[in-house]
Amino acid sequence: MRFDFTEEELNRYSRHILLQDVGVEGQEKIREGKVLVVGAGGLGAPVAMYLAAAGVGTIGIVDGDVVDLSNLQRQIIHTTPDVGKWKVESAKETIQAINPHVKVEAHREFLMADNALDLVGEYDFVVDGTDNFPVKFLINDACVMAGKPFSHGGILRFEGQTFTHVPGSACYRCMFKSPPPPGAVPTCSQAGVLGAIAGMLGTIQAAETLKWLTGVGELLTDKLLTFNAKTMDFRKIHVKKTDKCPICGPNPSITELIDYEQAVCDLKNHG
Ligand SMILES: [Zn+2]
Repeated sequence: MRFDFTEEELNRYSRHILLQDVGVEGQEKIREGKVLVVGAGGLGAPVAMYLAAAGVGTIGIVDGDVVDLSNLQRQIIHTTPDVGKWKVESAKETIQAINPHVKVEAHREFLMADNALDLVGEYDFVVDGTDNFPVKFLINDACVMAGKPFSHGGILRFEGQTFTHVPGSACYRCMFKSPPPPGAVPTCSQAGVLGAIAGMLGTIQAAETLKWLTGVGELLTDKLLTFNAKTMDFRKIHVKKTDKCPICGPNPSITELIDYEQAVCDLKNHG
């Protein structure tokens, strides 16, 4: 294999290249990677920034929202002058400032049943950076249907949870069959979240993405990692792919994507 990194790139990525498990070959895999980040919010911000810094060749960002002042407490990809801008535009500017080598695809829309398969299909790996159950299930279903790996992430108050799915491993519906009824479980916009929790979980998702791209280490597949920052207890719960799963089982009852109803107060606040 021939690598054509410039002196500037070799210098920029030198701390990766020094890693025995990554090296120039791993850096090339990172550069060839196409990653879709759904939501430019609390989780999407650190994910997109670390993937940009790492040199992921193409980063897609899906978000149909604008930056609100209340986002800045945790959504560190946006700054005070960005309030009122489209999140995808603000995110793109930050990414390009971190690393001009990255190609950013700004998808100024929300992920829905009618665009999810097309969007997911353009990328190698998907990161769930949303804060509402309907879209989390949509990402799961679209990725399972399209055979794409993804990183799930959820945060609330002082807690976070994440797992990684690759084709053949447990999916979100193997663990949780369907979304809770609208309003049954609060979201960050209703119950609050400590800003740094978004950073803690988002960087785990970014690390999983880079591990998947380079093939280094063991992914969080068939394991749900949870943490509580009040005690700093981290737990890994083993989860199993189940034949009863309505989407990834042998007899799936879900054969098309679903736009679940969302609690009205969540509609404006993704992440
Ligand atoms: Zn499943």
